[in-house]
Amino acid sequence: MVKPTKSHGSKSITASITPRDLMAEPARRPGAWCAKVITLFPEAFPGVLSASLTGKALDQGLWALDPIDLRIFGEGKHRNVDDTPYGGGAGMVLRADIVGKAIEFARRGAPAQPLVYLSPRGRRFDQAMARDWAAAPGVTMLCGRFEGVDQRVLDHYEIEEVSLGDFVLTGGELAAQAMIDATVRLLPGVLGNAASTEEESHSAGLLEHPQYTRPAEWNGLGVPEVLTSGDHGKIAEWREAQSKALTKTRRPDLWKARGDK
Ligand code: SAH
Repeated sequence: MVKPTKSHGSKSITASITPRDLMAEPARRPGAWCAKVITLFPEAFPGVLSASLTGKALDQGLWALDPIDLRIFGEGKHRNVDDTPYGGGAGMVLRADIVGKAIEFARRGAPAQPLVYLSPRGRRFDQAMARDWAAAPGVTMLCGRFEGVDQRVLDHYEIEEVSLGDFVLTGGELAAQAMIDATVRLLPGVLGNAASTEEESHSAGLLEHPQYTRPAEWNGLGVPEVLTSGDHGKIAEWREAQSKALTKTRRPDLWKARGDK
């Protein structure tokens, strides 16, 4: 987390407070994929990203997280970051000059990486975007609060607006964490052998087939016979057919986009 007294760089944080907090520096690997997040709530990070596989990978330095506290760029005794909207209306707007300083700070010394503003007006985040971001050196995210951000800062830095979905959150932090999660799990080594990113929903424009595990019978319900047949060819066929049927009925938009194959 960036401290007001710091004049250079931002300190990265690790997933857990033990035992790494006893060490001087986290195990960040040189060139590791890095999420820089400009936020009024840096303490909200890594949040859920510290759990499970993403947390372990963060601890191992397979990726890095730099929350940048927008408040330290604020003005006056109270480090104000917002003001009332021109033209009137409810709420407050994050100031262009304050946000601009935070963006300059985030970009300093950082390799060119996508710069995005989490926003309900943005392009809807999807698996293809996660793949693009995973292939970049990292991503710099601006989390809004209140009524959002002064338009001029978005225009000036040509910031792409990206939305988590067609609903309105109180701030960009949850959206940032969701998008970072989706991206980081595509980085080499993060999932290990625990899961495959090639056969899951949205990887080939299809939804995943149903999954079953023990017990073999539950509440009088068995599992599809083919899955216990040991015939891998048949199982693959069944799964593909289920996958296609599900996509066709639940997501005709995805089905159409694939060209009905
Ligand atoms: N007045 C704005 C909403 C502001 S919500 C509007 O009507 O468009 C406050 C902040 O939450 C936003 O600045 C944005 O950073 C974040 N946010 C809200 N909904 C979001 C969504 N669906 N996806 C990503 N970020 C979102």
